[in-house]
Amino acid sequence: MTGPLYVGFDLGGTQLKFGLIDGRGALAFKDKAPSPASIEGLMGLIGDVWKKLRAEYGPRLASAGFGFAGFFSLKDRKVLHSPNYPSLDGFDLVPALERVLDAPFRIDNDANMAAYGEWKHGAGRGAHSLVLLTIGTGVGSGIVLDGKLWQGRCGFAGEIGHITVNPGPTGSLCNCGNYGCLETEVSAPKIVRNYVDMVGSGGELTAEDIYNLARQGDACALESFANCGYYLGIGLGIVINLLNPGSILLGGGVMAGGEFLMDAAVEQARKRSHRVSFACATIARASLGNDAGLIGAAAWARDQASRPAS
Ligand SMILES: [Zn+2]
Repeated sequence: MTGPLYVGFDLGGTQLKFGLIDGRGALAFKDKAPSPASIEGLMGLIGDVWKKLRAEYGPRLASAGFGFAGFFSLKDRKVLHSPNYPSLDGFDLVPALERVLDAPFRIDNDANMAAYGEWKHGAGRGAHSLVLLTIGTGVGSGIVLDGKLWQGRCGFAGEIGHITVNPGPTGSLCNCGNYGCLETEVSAPKIVRNYVDMVGSGGELTAEDIYNLARQGDACALESFANCGYYLGIGLGIVINLLNPGSILLGGGVMAGGEFLMDAAVEQARKRSHRVSFACATIARASLGNDAGLIGAAAWARDQASRPAS
């Protein structure tokens, strides 16, 4: 293989995933390492990864993209807050990356990067407008509108996970301080909580256990998923009414049990959105899985490299 290669980093609370794509989005290489606890350790790891890739691929390495969970201010060019990686809070990431990467790079929210990846190289290819929801321990989301990643004025757009979908007394406390966010009502922990609330025990179970029970026809397990589907559908209805997207993609670990929540989700989305807008939207599974973030970060940096720094 020849031609330029583009590096993507996807920083999570437990792992730093990284990989290389080519101009068509094909993954040439990927790997991961435990996320170091300290920021010095993280920068050292990124520097080591970069050096190794540079040694192997030389001048073919053209750019790097870096996605992380949290808020990167486009105005201040600083990390404001990273819930999964608090040592990044307030950190001057741009000069730190400049010291270890000898190529143009871009930084953005990991869910935005995943949405961009699905749009450029995944299930959303060719979509005019796309919304990706990644449902796991929380809900990450990114928006592509009119063929453009929608970052918002300061870079904080697309936080669909923090739309209130359950304002009532059963809405759970979110780490944003609000209650009943989409992220708290549609997540792996909520599936477990729903089940525990119904049967009065089972707090030691995982969402995967509940999924297996649902496959065996356990009524409470099925209801645990359907309850999450109900709130997901409320969120989707809001998204459809607001944005009129052509493509809504759902990914993340919880979607492994998608067959048990999709019916309720689609039913609510249909009920709560205008029928013409609902008819315009395709709701489907995302296709890049855990690689969406790093593929998207690499593609974003690749596609932005000729533009002024942001
Ligand atoms: Zn929230």
